[in-house]
Amino acid sequence: MSNEEFMQDFHWLMDVLQHIDVGLVILDEDYNVELWNSFMQNHSARQPTDVLGCNLFTSFPELPMEWFKRKVESVRVLHNSAFTTWEQRPYLFKFRNYRPVTGMTEFMYQNCTIMPITNARSEITHICLIIYDVTEVAANRLQLQRANSKLHIISQTDGLTGLLNRKHWEEGLLHEFKRYQRYKHTCSLLMFDIDHFKRINDTYGHPAGDEVIRQTAAVVKDCVRDIDICGRYGGEEFTIILVDTNAEGATIVAERLRKSIEANTVYYDEHVINFTISLGVAEIHDQITTPVEWIDASDRGLYRAKRAGRNQTQIYSAT
Ligand code: GH3
Ligand code: MG
Ligand code: MG
Repeated sequence: MSNEEFMQDFHWLMDVLQHIDVGLVILDEDYNVELWNSFMQNHSARQPTDVLGCNLFTSFPELPMEWFKRKVESVRVLHNSAFTTWEQRPYLFKFRNYRPVTGMTEFMYQNCTIMPITNARSEITHICLIIYDVTEVAANRLQLQRANSKLHIISQTDGLTGLLNRKHWEEGLLHEFKRYQRYKHTCSLLMFDIDHFKRINDTYGHPAGDEVIRQTAAVVKDCVRDIDICGRYGGEEFTIILVDTNAEGATIVAERLRKSIEANTVYYDEHVINFTISLGVAEIHDQITTPVEWIDASDRGLYRAKRAGRNQTQIYSAT
């Protein structure tokens, strides 16, 4: 190859490196910049004259120096490239994101390759840094993750009240049941049902009935501890697992809840609606051998409360 041909090839190569759609930076042993291609210029708004020959960390003090130097050290020791992804570190250089499609992120997500450059004696003299713009991939993935976690929550909760739906609540019940079998930590189940709810629906309409259910759930959330597990079991039936609580403690919670509901007034359109609830309490014990038996015990307590005149709490202890 003639000298002229060599220069021609070299020129083309430099042209490609300059205009390729990834960031290219070449650093010497002291982290001084020796190549700064147009991708880096455009996104950092720093001209080659501003950065060439200057120390990278002086020009970009916000770079994670310790982390980056550790990476470069391992590249030097292993004689191998290192890769980092946006999932490990969203970006190395904080560049603004201008892409309209992914306008929801403020900055450019980046994958990076740190590559050793060797001389003819296979000694590493320089480090090449390649920056890939992966904003679109990252933004899509993050959007998907957010949608999935929303779906996950929706699949576990009841849309009207925000309490756990029956299926998910039953998983909590099974968990507490097994916990009792293993550790014998006590636990009580509270089941309650709105009194004469059909009458509320018939008198004020179904949407008013819905509002009563919603407000009942809001009172429940106020009356129990965070660790208690509240679910909407059916139409206007609710269940609460009171963790580490015996029947006596559960009755105190039940009565507090009953009184709060009794004192609460629902205003819906021009209607003023007062209502009450009946509650059944069942503490777990060794004769209860399945979660269904436990639910059945609390349901029997609830049935007793209805039979005894409603607006009250009854404990059921036998299986
Ligand atoms: P009791 O005091 O014996 O409980 O009498 P009740 O009238 O409340 O009887 P029951 O518990 O059987 O009533 C259930 C009613 O709840 C029947 C159903 O029409 C109504 N219902 C169930 N789900 C919903 C809902 O999501 N919204 C509304 N508005 N009503 C519901
Ligand atoms: Mg009812
Ligand atoms: Mg009912």
